[in-house]
Amino acid sequence: MLGSGILKGLAETAKNFVGSYIDESGLTTIEYPDERQTLAENTRQFPFLVFDGDDAMKGLRCVSCQICEKECPPQCIFIVKSKDKKPDHVGKPQFYPATFDIDLSVCMSCQICVEVCPFEAIKMDTEFELSTSDRFGQLLLHKGQLAKPNSHFQEIHPTDAAVSDAALAADKAKAEAKAAADAKAKAEAGIPRPLASSPEAVTIPPALGPPNLPM
Ligand code: SF4
Ligand code: SF4
Repeated sequence: MLGSGILKGLAETAKNFVGSYIDESGLTTIEYPDERQTLAENTRQFPFLVFDGDDAMKGLRCVSCQICEKECPPQCIFIVKSKDKKPDHVGKPQFYPATFDIDLSVCMSCQICVEVCPFEAIKMDTEFELSTSDRFGQLLLHKGQLAKPNSHFQEIHPTDAAVSDAALAADKAKAEAKAAADAKAKAEAGIPRPLASSPEAVTIPPALGPPNLPM
């Protein structure tokens, strides 16, 4: 029948409207911002930079490889690589971002930057209350504003954070095992080799005494 879809839709709306007066679970709206929904774990808005430890700048995981900058479709990431280096999570000296900006007014929340980062250094935040009338002043975020601790990542995306933490711990264990093996090999190379290493080795005969001459 022509228009039956419209009638079905109106009936559903009427059912929910009346039902919301009878059963609170029928309410389809909440009184935001006084009430807030629990966000789904895979909610994503804009990226942030992860740091470890207490110092946001010293603990930034980003090594300024600039892969995310190259791969970002709308090119809203801007990085300037440092001139010096600092140790990364496995202790290897790496560059770090002297500048790391993201223009949130251009970012389309695609998460490609997260997917391509080899260092678990950039993740998607769930923060959405970012509206402002100052497009350039408030939505162009700098390194200090983008940096958030790993505990924040663990809180908003616990499953992803557990995978990420395990990957970094595995990297670290591998690097430590390699360093220990290298140190052992170097130590062994420094010990002088023994002249005889087996029972079959040549033995030095005792010194011969003077010949017994007839008196
Ligand atoms: S989420 Fe997408 S658009 Fe936004 S910074 Fe990352 S790669 Fe660029
Ligand atoms: S966030 Fe990741 S991909 Fe982007 S520059 Fe830093 S280390 Fe490289």
